[in-house]
Amino acid sequence: MKGFILSLRRVGNEDMIVTLLSEKSLMRLYRFYGARHSILQLGYLIDFEVEESASGFLPRLRHVTHIGFPWLYRRNRLALWHSFVKIFEAHLRDTEELEPFYFDTLLDAARRWERQNPHRVVCEKYISILKHEGRLHSFERCYICEKGLGERVSLMRAFIPAHPECIYASSFDRGKIEDFFECGKSTWLEDDEVEALCNLALKGL
Ligand SMILES: [Zn+2]
Repeated sequence: MKGFILSLRRVGNEDMIVTLLSEKSLMRLYRFYGARHSILQLGYLIDFEVEESASGFLPRLRHVTHIGFPWLYRRNRLALWHSFVKIFEAHLRDTEELEPFYFDTLLDAARRWERQNPHRVVCEKYISILKHEGRLHSFERCYICEKGLGERVSLMRAFIPAHPECIYASSFDRGKIEDFFECGKSTWLEDDEVEALCNLALKGL
């Protein structure tokens, strides 16, 4: 089975509880002497087996191998990847069974992380998740004061539109953001706009 490591928690001196996003679920597995295994790193994609625990405690993580990506050796890309996987952990924390959508989203992002600007990958994946969950807001009115929006808009967490003066945040050209919401591609956005959207996305889903 394959999964992305969304979090690692040390237990005692050397054991670990590993949270993994697999195709069908979010799993918490126990790994004896996990702290000794350099393979167990935040954000890594691993192949593994699960062994049920006879004591009714957490199932065990066994036979782990690491599936690498070339960008793991690029420090900035790896740091951004850590921030990106953390929003999945926070968002999916209380779920157990999942559709493959979330695993597939991370897998596709990991494949694109090397050859594309990863900030753009974050923005596009964030939009696709909001769309998938039916949480993408329209531009009809400001979320705060409920009056109509103008040519410049600001975005709150989950890309909820508001007047710049209502949330005291940097603003975007409304038409460009609407196009981005519609097509899900960041092609027409400038790098600084993408970076601002990415920073917002990394605050969480
Ligand atoms: Zn407003």
